[in-house]
Amino acid sequence: MEICDGCGTHIQSGETRYIVHMTITADDAQTVSPVTDEEMEEIIARFESANSIDLEQQVYSERSFILCARCKQRFMQNPLGKGSRDPFEEDGLSGPLH
Ligand SMILES: [Zn+2]
Repeated sequence: MEICDGCGTHIQSGETRYIVHMTITADDAQTVSPVTDEEMEEIIARFESANSIDLEQQVYSERSFILCARCKQRFMQNPLGKGSRDPFEEDGLSGPLH
């Protein structure tokens, strides 16, 4: 049994679960390959001048999430979490404000 990273719901073994694999790459990292020897020296110098772990995280990061069907749908509709409103409440079913 696994837990949804979106809502914390337990996902039963028979239930569909979705794995979201995110790869975030800094745009300037695209120039890393192919490189000339001069460019490689420059890249190595950049790595040596910075904390390599920090730099690695800045240039490239990867994460995986397990989502239930409901959270997967929500993620597809709003992958960046824009806005503060819960998209499930936008269908007019929520009651009037007191
Ligand atoms: Zn969920």
